[in-house]
Amino acid sequence: MATHHTRMLIIGSGPAGYSAAIYAARAMLAPIVVQGLQPGGQLTITTDVENYPGFRDVVQGPWLMEEMQAQAEHVGTRMMWDTIVSVDLENGPPFRAIGDSGDEYIGDTLVICTGAQAKWLGVPGELELGGKGVSACATCDGFFYRGKKVAVIGGGNTAVEEALYLTNHSDDVTLIHRRDTLRSEKILEERLMKNPKISVLWNKAVESFAAGENGALHHLMLKDTQSGEASTLEVDGAFVAIGHAPATELFKGKLPMDASGYLLTEPGTPKTVIPGVFAAGDVTDHVYRQAVTAAGMGCMAALDGERYLAANPHDVAQVEAAE
Ligand code: FAD
Ligand code: NAP
Repeated sequence: MATHHTRMLIIGSGPAGYSAAIYAARAMLAPIVVQGLQPGGQLTITTDVENYPGFRDVVQGPWLMEEMQAQAEHVGTRMMWDTIVSVDLENGPPFRAIGDSGDEYIGDTLVICTGAQAKWLGVPGELELGGKGVSACATCDGFFYRGKKVAVIGGGNTAVEEALYLTNHSDDVTLIHRRDTLRSEKILEERLMKNPKISVLWNKAVESFAAGENGALHHLMLKDTQSGEASTLEVDGAFVAIGHAPATELFKGKLPMDASGYLLTEPGTPKTVIPGVFAAGDVTDHVYRQAVTAAGMGCMAALDGERYLAANPHDVAQVEAAE
């Protein structure tokens, strides 16, 4: 078991964590990134990424994240293959975190970039057809279904917004909901119902996703939640939009969160209520949830952290005295 001290401790290794690390390393803060169970974050489970600026051609998510990691390391970031299991924010700065390995991490500043995970239905075919027709992000993947038939599963704001968004690409969008009323805002519901490109299948649950001969999604097996009747729906793409879960378990009772568990920050900044503790990326953002917005917030967190350290030099002295 070892103790690692840094001027900026970054928890999470998605676009937010790596971007914070690049800025912090270039500010000579010798950052540590604790990568967690998914080094590289959510983009490592997708294939084509076409909306991250800087690449004229489609790039692969895992490749993009390897490049980001390499860039962060190149400028001086220490990567730790560990998962944080507890944090002490009360007695900081410095802020202390314990890894699954038993190692202790001490940061004069802390940047939380633990992201969020899309919730999945957990039915047959869903996992296997991920990236081959099944997606959890219309903004990311809708473009690949231009002129094709698509379905969105869910009945909240996200599902309705995704269905509306998809009409930019497809004239045949079906929203599938397990009940006969939506839980989305009325204004969104109105837009949905008025849109001639969208039809709604009420009281239907997706039982499985089935592939065609080419190995890509071909149809959905449905079950009526009232009558139990089975049916199928042929689609080229299906977007699961049943909510996201931010990875904030560690911070319960320690930092303010909204009703869905997203960390709350001072509007327009990554600052949490604890000076020196910042949150960036999907862990604090239920609206945009994009790699480029996460990266932008990571940059902001590192810059604010650097300013915080410049304004509070005594915090560093405390750490050195304690070591
Ligand atoms: P994440 O990428 O979620 O990373 C979170 C990190 O935190 C992970 O490294 C994880 O290991 C770590 N972590 C969590 N808990 C702990 C812990 N306790 N200790 C240590 N580490 C921890 N966006 C786009 O812009 N374009 C796209 O084309 C696109 N396609 C997508 C396709 C799919 C299938 C999915 C799921 C998402 C897609 N997105 C896309 C969204 C994009 O991936 C996210 O917006 C982005 O990854 C968020 O970055 P983040 O750094 O906030 O968090
Ligand atoms: P949500 O409000 O929790 O809605 C999830 C939807 O998915 C519900 O309709 C739910 O059905 C359905 N669902 C959940 N599990 C399912 C399953 N296993 N099988 C089938 N359907 C399932 O999630 P969200 O839409 O992602 O929104 C999350 C939060 O972000 C909300 O507070 C929302 O208001 C907010 N948000 C706001 C905006 C905006 O303001 N523009 C945009 C997006 C999200 P039931 O209805 O039957 O429970």
